[in-house]
Amino acid sequence: MIPVTTFAGKKVAVFGLGASGLLSARALKAGGAEVVVFDDEPKKVEEARAEGLTTQDLRAIDWSKIAALVLAPGVPLTHPAPHWSAALANKAGVEIIGDIELFCRERAKSGVQCPLVAITGTNGKSTTTALIAHLIGHAGRDAQMGGNIGVPVLALQPFAPGRVYVLELSSFQIDLAPSLKPTVGILLNVTEDHLDRHGSMANYAAIKTLLAASVEPGGSAVIGVDDRYTREAAERIERAGKTVLRVSVVSALRDGYYAEGSRILRSVAGKAHPVAQLAGIGSLRGAHNAQNAASALAACVALGIDLPAIQQGLVSFPGLAHRMQPIGRKPTNLGNILFVNDSKATNADSAAKALASFGDIFWIAGGKPKTGGIVSLAEFFPRIRKAYLIGEAAADFARTLDGKVPYEIAHVLSAAVAAATRDAEASGRKEPVVLLSPACASYDQYPNFEVRGKAFSDLVLALPGVTSPSPSRGG
Ligand code: ADP
Repeated sequence: MIPVTTFAGKKVAVFGLGASGLLSARALKAGGAEVVVFDDEPKKVEEARAEGLTTQDLRAIDWSKIAALVLAPGVPLTHPAPHWSAALANKAGVEIIGDIELFCRERAKSGVQCPLVAITGTNGKSTTTALIAHLIGHAGRDAQMGGNIGVPVLALQPFAPGRVYVLELSSFQIDLAPSLKPTVGILLNVTEDHLDRHGSMANYAAIKTLLAASVEPGGSAVIGVDDRYTREAAERIERAGKTVLRVSVVSALRDGYYAEGSRILRSVAGKAHPVAQLAGIGSLRGAHNAQNAASALAACVALGIDLPAIQQGLVSFPGLAHRMQPIGRKPTNLGNILFVNDSKATNADSAAKALASFGDIFWIAGGKPKTGGIVSLAEFFPRIRKAYLIGEAAADFARTLDGKVPYEIAHVLSAAVAAATRDAEASGRKEPVVLLSPACASYDQYPNFEVRGKAFSDLVLALPGVTSPSPSRGG
């Protein structure tokens, strides 16, 4: 844990007692602050009390004695309306911050030279974060990975010279971290998402952009310039005198990193040379992953890691579970069936990435439907040999596929895996792919996408003759 000493001797209120809120409270206490915690769920308040934290309804405290309100990132700060605790803090003129801000202030105060890489964007944050931490570790340096990716930032190892912190940040977390000054700030892409919380696209884009704009002196902003918002941000940040490293998977750049097929090139003043090769790296298939890999590469070069070490690290990246994760292979007369778990694809946009990355697909889809269904996926239908439909969305998806793609309604995952494997085996194709990429939420049949992905993986690994491509990729 990283004790937070910047509020020593002061009183701090913490609202929202999930993992990061509880850790903030503990870290503040360990650093000498007086902490009072609360949550709208009585059970969470009780748990905090049981572990020795001071709990009190924040409606009943004297706000004039409070130095700061630490808010969990899931709690509304402005949209659709400020949470009542934020409203009380605002009324009393008390600053509202999050655990990332506590971390940043502590890092600045410590004076220890430890680079901070911060990653945001609408899509690809977790993959890029995990890849950067992997590349740094592979190069023999100490990487601490946390933030939105799962480990609360204050749970990481304390500051030590040369230790690199790699943090995935949601826009909610950026919003609550005014003194964020990363050594490398990565903005991958900005598309419509979370407008409920941010009110407007302009506001959402502005918050995301802030991360790249706030890089510390001598630092670098790595910006994927394949959408309008990020392109404009790159120009603005460059005009403000910061070093901007552009990334594109759509077009060649005069300056920056770009993908050409499976190669990544670096271009300086119009002179390009290849810097990495993604061909054959199963965990980094597809143009979207080229964007993630090129951004990670740019960050690692900025941190002084050499290209051969980066290339080796790319090759050994295991990938993240449930995101186009190769689960197993089954030999056939002609070749192999590849089984891929893309359970994280909970909407059509995400499923499009997987459908674009494979041919001869035996597609398992369905679950709790999202607005629009799979109508937007028509351009990928020619790659699909047959679809196996499960869950509540089955009938609607069947209507969309009717007359275009053969399908059967399998209702449940076990039936879908069995039928897809049977058909892939009989297909006479060399490299058929049985792909779970549901384009739906999981809640009709599973508690979350992780459990759904694990169920798929268990079913696949129980099939006769299936071998796991890399045991470390499970889970
Ligand atoms: P996040 O952490 O931002 O949710 P992940 O790395 O977990 O992103 O990837 C989630 C899904 O988003 C992937 O399964 C893929 O469908 C899609 N995706 C990943 N990277 C990108 C990218 N750079 N651009 C667009 N979509 C992406």
